[in-house]
Amino acid sequence: MKKRIYLDYSATTPMKQEVLDEMMPYFTEKFGNPSSIHSFGREAKQAIDLSRERLAKAIGAKAEEIFFTGGGSEADNWAIKGIAYANRDKGNHIITTKIEHHAVLHTCEYLEKNGFEVTYLDVDAFGHIKIDDLKNAITDQTILITIMFANNEIGTIQPIQEIGQITKEKKIIFHVDAVQAFGNVKIDVNDLNIDLMSLSAHKVYGPKGIGALYIRKGVKLHSLIHGGAQERRRRAGTENLPGIVGFGKAASLASENLEVHIQHVKTLRDKLIKGIMEQVNYVRLNGHSEYRLPGNVNFAFEFIEGESLLLSLDMLGIAGSSGSACTSGSLDPSHVLMSLGLTHEIAHGSLRLTIGDFTTEEDIDYVLQELPKVVDRLRQMSPLYEKVKGGQK
Ligand SMILES: *Cc1c(COP(=O)(O)O)cnc(C)c1O
Repeated sequence: MKKRIYLDYSATTPMKQEVLDEMMPYFTEKFGNPSSIHSFGREAKQAIDLSRERLAKAIGAKAEEIFFTGGGSEADNWAIKGIAYANRDKGNHIITTKIEHHAVLHTCEYLEKNGFEVTYLDVDAFGHIKIDDLKNAITDQTILITIMFANNEIGTIQPIQEIGQITKEKKIIFHVDAVQAFGNVKIDVNDLNIDLMSLSAHKVYGPKGIGALYIRKGVKLHSLIHGGAQERRRRAGTENLPGIVGFGKAASLASENLEVHIQHVKTLRDKLIKGIMEQVNYVRLNGHSEYRLPGNVNFAFEFIEGESLLLSLDMLGIAGSSGSACTSGSLDPSHVLMSLGLTHEIAHGSLRLTIGDFTTEEDIDYVLQELPKVVDRLRQMSPLYEKVKGGQK
């Protein structure tokens, strides 16, 4: 088979073999319903308890503060709607940013249609919010601040500690979408004063369709899913037992291997960035050079379209992602790239390559060998590029 190189770890990750191995028995012989009293049920319940402890340990929380969900999107929805409706008597104002994941943005937009007011903070050219903007946005109606830890497109890491200081002082509930940060950044919910935090297994070498919401003890929020008494009556539905087991294992591995993982992906990331910058003209790095996810590379190539670039790379077996929201059927550049202040044209030429544990140096070498050629070929077809080149001579 043709060589295939996966550089889309921010979209999803392959499961680790150890994760699958732990999950397997829970599909067959250990299939009990965790709510059942008999030994089958107890066996399942114990497995869930262990996973809850593993998750808690990975983020410095207590086991009873971890609630399993059907993924990161559900955790975001639950946190935001749950807090909004539980605090309606205290206020109706929410603060977030313009570069959140759609699971946060669309939830906020939904709440705006239902009587809430939302402030969407701008970001600077590197994707950072300004702390003063945040302070100025707070009113006596503000009940929730929801800001992502690290951005899924450009990898920018927000000043979460500073934000947590402010929310603590002002006694405003602080939710963090840490789906991308988890497993890539050291996270301690107490050090950072985080009240709620969304996690997802499939971004950290675990299974899809399972996530978690960390809810600080004492924080009250409405339920999203009503029904049985699972998850201490806060999230109904028979538990996704194999998923929860897999998530627990993936979380343990992520925290045990954090330093090694960061070192590995960062080395490859920096090699890729340096190599492209050296070989290609008219290219800029989207996002922040320092406060950046260790495995995230996002370039804007002038005079080409990200979509064409993506397709050409795919033919060479290289799997990346572009900055366009092509999944939603539109070819508009993403809200994240536009928020950086990029022009439409430049945002359109953006390419995200995200590196993970299974990426090798040979993979990066191959990309460094092929990508400049592809960029060059696509630019040869661009009248604008011809003009610029002509002017240079
Ligand atoms: C992937 C992702 C989500 C959604 O998680 P799912 O488990 O796929 O629902 C939410 N937020 C961020 C930042 C993500 O990268």
